[in-house]
Amino acid sequence: MALVEDVIDVLLKHREGLTAREICNVLGLEPGRENDVYSAIMKAAKVLRRKGLELVMIPPQCRKCGFVFEKPKVSRCPKCRSEWIEPARFLIK
Ligand SMILES: [Zn+2]
Repeated sequence: MALVEDVIDVLLKHREGLTAREICNVLGLEPGRENDVYSAIMKAAKVLRRKGLELVMIPPQCRKCGFVFEKPKVSRCPKCRSEWIEPARFLIK
């Protein structure tokens, strides 16, 4: 639960939005914990909703062809196969 609270804290301080990797950096976590950060973000969304706040995801986008993904975690573009992906950003509204 502590990581969820840390993620909320970081997002409240960075209202312009952050990627999961940036949240890792701010919290001083190893990059390998990015998956933990993603699941903490999903839990944070529920906690925030109860507080009347909304966690918004700016979806990942392919930098090559512009394809916009629906899921937060992606590795390869289904349209052009590029792995040059702009990661999802998360922000609190
Ligand atoms: Zn693409």
